[in-house]
Amino acid sequence: MPSPFIIAIVDDDAAIRRLVRLILHRAGYETIELTTGEEARQVLWNEPWDLAILDRKLPDLDGALLAHELKSQNDFRARYIIMLTGEADQEDKVEGLELGADDYITKPFQYPELLARVRAGKRIVDLQKELIETNKRLELLSITDGLTRLYNHRYFQDELARAFDESKRYNRPLSLAMIDIDFFKKINDTHGHATGDEVLKAVSKLMSDSVRSTDLVARYGGEEFAVMMPETELDDALVFAEKIRSLLEGEPVPTQAGPLPVTVSIGVTSVPHSRVHSPKEMVVSADRALYRAKKTGRNRVEAERRREGLSRKTISPAPSSASRSLTEG
Ligand code: GH3
Ligand code: MG
Ligand code: MG
Repeated sequence: MPSPFIIAIVDDDAAIRRLVRLILHRAGYETIELTTGEEARQVLWNEPWDLAILDRKLPDLDGALLAHELKSQNDFRARYIIMLTGEADQEDKVEGLELGADDYITKPFQYPELLARVRAGKRIVDLQKELIETNKRLELLSITDGLTRLYNHRYFQDELARAFDESKRYNRPLSLAMIDIDFFKKINDTHGHATGDEVLKAVSKLMSDSVRSTDLVARYGGEEFAVMMPETELDDALVFAEKIRSLLEGEPVPTQAGPLPVTVSIGVTSVPHSRVHSPKEMVVSADRALYRAKKTGRNRVEAERRREGLSRKTISPAPSSASRSLTEG
């Protein structure tokens, strides 16, 4: 259902407000009424509205200045402001338009003119809303992977660089897990590419459903994923990685070819870390751990531990099989 079109009537004259309200209600618009510049500042900044009919002469403020304040805000660029001027003063109109009003009506006005100008405003607001929506969709498309709907490689790189800087500046922990599906080529070869795609989607969903809202899950490459976890120490990232690993191990992935056993190998690293000085090195570090997980049997979580005084460690609950180990990085 489309949201209603809300018109703010800002005028200190109760008779004008009543008249405009009646005309607009009869035409099916929703209205809110404000009587002073100060009240308008309070409400227009905090409540939804689409078009404002603004008296130029408010008791405490020049309406044109209020229009200017509103239009200076990025959030209000898509709104429409009609200035109500008392007299047909040419200079007043020009100034109002220059300052930010989109149109004006002179008092006394005729109903049809008011409605026609509101309709013209609505057409522009609707177009602008559509444009904003389209831009949002395009922006989302440009940063997501079409198959899995996860963030894409490029967006991940940008966000990792940003998070890495932040972690360094404020000396906060940041963890990264690289997750690669085991023997994925065999799934493709045995059941076909479409089934492989189903597995990719299912694994992606499992990860998205398992992370916190501040984490970022990306498709790093073909069947390799990256999960960035800000404000997360290595041990907590390992708990997450182990959860993903054991969830997949415990439950086959339903596909059109039937339920398929799928496992993943995961490499985890965290900063601050004595060997990691850049986002690139962080990926290399997680990749190194992932490589060890592959080499030592797959379906495992491996960590790159900081060198200083950290010993071999297992997380509880310990896995049932010898499916994972944590070793020095
Ligand atoms: P390992 O356990 O060592 O990771 O072996 P693997 O078979 O998973 O890894 P390998 O890198 O040999 O194969 C990855 C395969 O993933 C090869 C490629 O065709 C497939 N792949 C890449 N992208 C897609 C995709 O979008 N859909 C499907 N179905 N397959 C893909
Ligand atoms: Mg693989
Ligand atoms: Mg791979």
